[in-house]
Amino acid sequence: MSVQEDKLKDIIGHAKEYGFVFPSSEIYDGLSATYDYGQLGAELKNNIKNYWWKAMVHMHENIVGIDAAIFMHPTTWKASGHVDAFNDPLIDNKDSKKRYRADVLLEEHMEKIRAKNEKEIEKGRAKFGDSFDEATFRNTNPNVVRRSAEIKGIEDKMRDCLENSKLDELKCLIDDLGIVCPISGSKNWTEVRQFNLMFATELGSVSGESAKIYLRPETAQGIFVNFLNVQKSGRMKIPFGIAQIGKAFRNEIVARQFIFRMREFEQMEMQFFVKPGEEMKWYEYWKNFRMKWHMALGFGDKNYRFHDHIKLAHYANAACDIEHEFPFGFKELEGIHSRTDFDLKQHEEFSGKKLRFFDPETNESYIPFVVETSIGLDRMFLAILSQSYKNEKLEDGTERVVLSIPPALAPYKVAVLPLVKKDGLPEKAREIIDMLKLDFNTQYDEKDSIGKRYRRQDAIGTPFSVTVDHDTLIDHKVTIRDRDTMLQDRVLIADLHRIIDEKVNMRKLLVG
Ligand code: ATP
Repeated sequence: MSVQEDKLKDIIGHAKEYGFVFPSSEIYDGLSATYDYGQLGAELKNNIKNYWWKAMVHMHENIVGIDAAIFMHPTTWKASGHVDAFNDPLIDNKDSKKRYRADVLLEEHMEKIRAKNEKEIEKGRAKFGDSFDEATFRNTNPNVVRRSAEIKGIEDKMRDCLENSKLDELKCLIDDLGIVCPISGSKNWTEVRQFNLMFATELGSVSGESAKIYLRPETAQGIFVNFLNVQKSGRMKIPFGIAQIGKAFRNEIVARQFIFRMREFEQMEMQFFVKPGEEMKWYEYWKNFRMKWHMALGFGDKNYRFHDHIKLAHYANAACDIEHEFPFGFKELEGIHSRTDFDLKQHEEFSGKKLRFFDPETNESYIPFVVETSIGLDRMFLAILSQSYKNEKLEDGTERVVLSIPPALAPYKVAVLPLVKKDGLPEKAREIIDMLKLDFNTQYDEKDSIGKRYRRQDAIGTPFSVTVDHDTLIDHKVTIRDRDTMLQDRVLIADLHRIIDEKVNMRKLLVG
């Protein structure tokens, strides 16, 4: 098992042990690719949602948020193209009986070649030191040039196959590249087939095609069908955005890597309606804005990169992903798509209702173009968990597991710990909690030694622990310990609120 796989295993174990994420219906041996968020997971998730909602909705006066139903009129999905085209190209390995997405097998193959190039470049950098010019090296080193051309060749071929549904040629490409199944190591592949990812169910007691409805595979359509309602009732003027956080469902074929790819997950999406012709300006704006939102968390800029889509979806004229370095490599965390007027146009056609914006200044009426940002809440959760999880060796030779979750997102902000369970210390601790809990999620803990209690708080990412001792009753001071530095300070109870607030307030994330 690789170091990265080990790390993911540790994170999954830790998430379960401390109440962040449990396998769904575990007493029945779980349900594949379905997870439940525990008591700390629910807090972290809420804090991520809050960070997103504040940054997108509250910080933009022209963006409002809605909460649409999961069930929608079935024609929605005809209009959006999901009934006919929301497919994945699948391929099975006959020996391992494992099923893969053909495009993912090819992406992973290209990623391996890319990694070789990066290694070569690092070697060059080490060799030439300060005089190293990466751009020139990329353009002149024969190995790097050859590999880049190879990647480009595969990309072009793959795009052509996907865009033109050439499934036979896709299979040939996998064969020609000698791609093997990671489980069986064999090249014994089936043909490539298309598979629709939507879950269907029946409405009420009627059965048959007419009563068939779908669990939404994305939240975006709930926004498109409400475009006019929101625009009119909110007196919104172009450009404006509608945001939403909610569940989405996809019958993923290869659901794995913990909460990275699930069949039931949550999305945070925002559709920004703009004047046709201005979409590229806004596409750039949202790319930058969203990247900054990620980087503000302080996990290191090198852990993020843009990846332009090779195959544009049927509705897009530009699209990219923000990829993040997960324990299993760089993978999509968020998508930014310029969706043109495709969706509103389709809904106009299928519903017979006009979905336009009338611009009183120019007296024109038009179907706006849309730039969307779409991020998976669960993937964001995993990104935070995996970046925060650290196994540290301390100076005294001991070890600690700490979750250095950005304080504004941490499930608990402060733990209050009476040194002993008597002499009025628990009462004092509860008094302090009552003072803090209106603004900060606070935990009380009186069990075990203080050292053990600190470790427990480290393991769940609590930025501060406050210890109440006998002197507290006399001098009204407590010991406050910082999760990251482990430094302790003696401060007045009256100053606690300010000290904690300075560190855990979301303001810093929002304004930089
Ligand atoms: P992928 O290529 O990984 O399947 P996608 O391109 O289909 O993702 P989008 O349709 O752009 O994803 O969805 C927007 C976001 O929703 C993604 O960036 C991702 O964070 C999240 N997401 C999509 N599918 C899943 C899933 N099965 N489980 C968890 N999150 C998901």
